[in-house]
Formats: sequence, C-alpha cells, structure tokens
Amino acid sequence: MIMGKKPFIVGNWKMNLTLAEGIEFTKSLKKSLQGKHELICGICPPFIFLKDICRVLEDSGICVGAQNIHSEKNGAYTGEISALMVQEVGCTHVLIGHSERRHLFGEVDSFINAKIKTALGINLKPIFCIGETLHEREEGRTKYVVKNQLKNGLMGIDKNHIEELVIAYEPVWAIGTGKTASPEQANEVHSFIRGFLTNEYGKDIANSVYIQYGGSVKPENTKELIAQPEIDGLLVGGASIKLESFLKIIDAASIQ
Ligand code: PEP
Repeated sequence: MIMGKKPFIVGNWKMNLTLAEGIEFTKSLKKSLQGKHELICGICPPFIFLKDICRVLEDSGICVGAQNIHSEKNGAYTGEISALMVQEVGCTHVLIGHSERRHLFGEVDSFINAKIKTALGINLKPIFCIGETLHEREEGRTKYVVKNQLKNGLMGIDKNHIEELVIAYEPVWAIGTGKTASPEQANEVHSFIRGFLTNEYGKDIANSVYIQYGGSVKPENTKELIAQPEIDGLLVGGASIKLESFLKIIDAASIQ
C-alpha cells in the first residue's frame, strides 16, 4: 500500500443474489461499517438492483459501482445501459473490461477504451480490469499482455483524468478458480503496472492511481495480499456475496 492511501475493497456480485437478499446484505454492511474510516468499501450489484441499493447507501461513504456500461451515451442499443443511467441512480464507479466481459462476451480493447472515455467524460470512475490468461502466463507473456491492455485501454485519455481511474489486476486463471496469485506474483505485476503509469504520466499521477488485485480473494489471503507495497485494494467476486466473508475480508484489510 502506498503511503497515505486507504485500502479500497470492492465486491463484484456478478449475476448473484435476489433483490431482497441484496438489500438485506447492503443494510447490514452499512451498519457494520459505520464509523470505520480506515478503508474505502464499494459494491457492484446487478443493474436492476442499483437504484434501491444506492438509496440504502446514501451518505454512507460506501461506493456503488455498475458491472458494465455501453460506450455510447445513448441510442439504439437494445438491452444496453449507459454511463449516465447508472450515474443517475447513484453509482460513482463502473467495472470496465472485466475478464468475463472480455472472454464470455467478446469485448475488445477498443470497445473498453471507448467505455473508459465515456465514463471519465461524466466523472464516473472506471475500475479498469486487466490480466493475463493461464496460457499467456505459462508462455511468459504476462507483462506483454498487461502492457498492451493498458496501452490500448488508456489510448487517447487525457493525463488529467488518469488519477480518477482504478486499475484492477485480475489474472484470468485466478478468477473464480480458487487459485490466487501469490502475494509476490501479484505485487510483481502491480509494480510493472505502476512503472507503466510512471513512464506515461509521471510518478505523482502513477502513485495516486489505485491498483487493486482480484482473483479468488478470501478472508484467509487478504492480509498478505494487502500488505504488499503495490497493492492498494482488492476486487472480490465469490467471497463478496456472503456478508460474513466480505466483512472478514474488510476486517483483515483494515488491520495492517
Ligand atoms: C472478479 O470477478 O472480479 C473476481 C475476482 O472473482 P473471484 O473473487 O470469485 O475470483
């Protein structure tokens, strides 16, 4: 963790929970985090829950993010949701380029880049997800892949906007598999990402960007991941949909 930062812990619910379960979870989360100022917490519920959940979390300091947006501001895109729509119901963040979007729904870097620009254009903060597949890691191409995702995803983005970004390094082989990158493996890639940002935008901007780790984060591995110097936060999938495990992760990330 870079000095002066608070850990930023975000739960990605994916396509899980009912609305009633989501609201109950959110009310309990809000209660549990009252007066807890040593970290920043966020949740990314399904689109259809956002309005109700944002209402529960109003003035709580807990951030709400959408799991996706379309790159266009509006138009004939049946079934899609715009950046402005999620912001209007209270979202401050949005996941962009999650590996499930890239690999299951064919999202490519240029589309991801356009979404990041659209989000930044209205001050909606992107949580920009990047990471290599197992095959790419085994071939020794992790840094090459991550660098290309960064280069293409951030192409043409004004330097002044970079500080608003959160980058989530999520090795695809660790997502939902129970396999976590070792703290050292994760830190090495985070350090590479920080180096890329430093080269492109300078040290101050690079240090201000939050770089989260994601991939089978659980209460048991939180402490050692968050203790790494380049890990500023965590993006949690499976372990974020059970209140007990999410709270344990939050607790473990708070005590350093
Ligand atoms: C994710 O979906 O961003 C994620 C990291 O999932 P999990 O924690 O389940 O691996």
